Amino acid sequence: MSDLTGFDYPGRMERARATMAERGIDALLLSVGAGLPYLTGYRATPMERLTMAVVPARGEPVLAVPELEAPRVVPRPGVFSLRPWGETEDPVGIVAGLLGGARSVAVGDSTWARFVLGLQARRPEIGFEPAGPLMTRLRLRKEPSEIERLRRAGAAADRVALRLREERFAGRTERELARLVAEMTVEEGHESAAFTIVASGPNGASPHHEPGGRVVTAGDAVVVDFGGSVDGYHSDTTRCFHVGPPPAAFLEAYEVVRRAQEVGVTAVAPGVAAEEIDRATRAVIDDAGYGDFFIHRTGHGIGLEVHEEPYLVAGNDLALGAGMAFSIEPGIYLPGEFGIRIEDIVVVGDTGAERLNQSPRDLGIVG
Ligand code: ZN
Ligand code: ZN
Repeated sequence: MSDLTGFDYPGRMERARATMAERGIDALLLSVGAGLPYLTGYRATPMERLTMAVVPARGEPVLAVPELEAPRVVPRPGVFSLRPWGETEDPVGIVAGLLGGARSVAVGDSTWARFVLGLQARRPEIGFEPAGPLMTRLRLRKEPSEIERLRRAGAAADRVALRLREERFAGRTERELARLVAEMTVEEGHESAAFTIVASGPNGASPHHEPGGRVVTAGDAVVVDFGGSVDGYHSDTTRCFHVGPPPAAFLEAYEVVRRAQEVGVTAVAPGVAAEEIDRATRAVIDDAGYGDFFIHRTGHGIGLEVHEEPYLVAGNDLALGAGMAFSIEPGIYLPGEFGIRIEDIVVVGDTGAERLNQSPRDLGIVG
């Protein structure tokens, strides 16, 4: 979807300006990525033609868009004005001009290098810095209407997870199962499937395995991790399945991950450091002797992007606060054997975590 409706964009712009002033930033440039839709409602098409909002600390923001894309833009008077540029114009020159007397400019993290380098060449006197910290500050705590969308996305993902427990896995390839999961993701209310991981047997030991031609057979453990967006906000959940009854060694590891995930969710509270949640889940897995096989951080923030701040990782001492949304997804990955991961999205409330995923977390035994 190119437009996000239902948010207070003038209010967000106001907050952006106040934060820019605090940080001595004269102008903010936003292109592809989540910062632009967050502040204007408009999502840039990721392509070779430049779309860029120039948000000055004082004065009206201008959205420069390719002329042929201007009809897709929902006008928001008072939030930004539009500057369509024609095929023979130079959009980098236009943006360089719109920057006026700015000396300190923050640029959206995912802006393409070609445009940033072009702007630097045109305006060598300007100090450019990543807009990441500024945008994170604005987006870290979700508004109630954002949380409501995340809740709906979580519920839609849960319906998919429930349906999967009734599916036959044996005899189908990972790719076929992934296609099925993606179809269900849309059927259950997402605009589209953002990603679908189906990792069977030894492939499960690769956390971001790309589903391939391996045929799932009896005795396989299968990790299914998927998500999509609902009104621009993402779901992301992981559940594990086993084709037929699992051996004791697998069940033992599974129960460790389940306990670690539970401990992680319970550890969430306002004021607790992000890294403490990682420490809590890791301690359970370490104590059980699987520490070397938990090879990623415990979780990531989620919202307009599938992965965004805050990251639950050692070294991040950010204090969690009400309205922050993130995954808790510990795992154990035994090379050549299997993988296990259990993932829920949670939102920090006034006292602790609210889980946005409620589908059963026990191992799904499938045919
Ligand atoms: Zn996931
Ligand atoms: Zn995740």
